[in-house]
Amino acid sequence: MLEKITSNILFMPAEEKTDRPVLGAVSGAEKSFIIDSGNSPAHARQFIKKLSASRVPPPRLMGITHWHWDHTFGMSAWDIPIIAHTDTRKSLEALMEYSWDDGSLDKRVKQGLEIEFCAEMIKKEFAWDRGQIKVEVPEIIFPDRLTIDLGGITCLIEKVGGDHDSGSTVFYIPEDRVLFLGDCLGPDLYAPQYYYSIGKFLGLLEKIRGYGAQIYVGSHGDPESSEGLEKEMEEWEEIARIVEKRGKDWEGILGQIKESFDREPTPDDREMAELFLNGLEIKERE
Ligand SMILES: [Zn+2]
Repeated sequence: MLEKITSNILFMPAEEKTDRPVLGAVSGAEKSFIIDSGNSPAHARQFIKKLSASRVPPPRLMGITHWHWDHTFGMSAWDIPIIAHTDTRKSLEALMEYSWDDGSLDKRVKQGLEIEFCAEMIKKEFAWDRGQIKVEVPEIIFPDRLTIDLGGITCLIEKVGGDHDSGSTVFYIPEDRVLFLGDCLGPDLYAPQYYYSIGKFLGLLEKIRGYGAQIYVGSHGDPESSEGLEKEMEEWEEIARIVEKRGKDWEGILGQIKESFDREPTPDDREMAELFLNGLEIKERE
């Protein structure tokens, strides 16, 4: 069975082993809206099976959070219209040219076009038949935002962008105050060093707060309460401001984190600080 967020919203949890993300279903009176396609046809079929066992109204439309393989390689297993941001469609069109055998994947990792972690996960998820990878493109594209009416419940689809992907799109269900975030809060992974740009990241947090959601659903973790995410967001903001002020003074950054949070910097604090610092260095080089 699927897990319940509210009486209208179900999800299948993420699976770390082959980087399968959360898949969501928002159900109105007669139809359901699906969020993300799965990382393979097998992942998609698992969700389709659980959806029918959960007796939700039939899936009629799907929205994609962003182009990354783990969110889109399940598209070919669905026969419903798919909605995505203009940038997401463009990125998927480019992916259609690629081959997915080990040699091609390894070559793209060397060229910096593919992330080593993703290549490894693709090999694992498609261990038996890499030929199953069929990149498709969405039928319905939108420039900024779009609302869909599912009968008694609506879903606001909006591009928020951010470092992780410029086309990152969130899905907000105002009646239930649930926000599907995709990976939008993640760093840019397609760079020699993973990074966050401070300005972009702080702007994104403001946008996310603006929805007034009570429950947040990220793609690679468990749903979180607004209190939980708000506490994390405040810490990230503080770390961003500290890095912005201190620049490359790593000891100074750690000292100020200790002072601000009244504790030793945790591995997560250090990682966030490093990602912001990488962003500063990239900006400097530009
Ligand atoms: Zn992603």
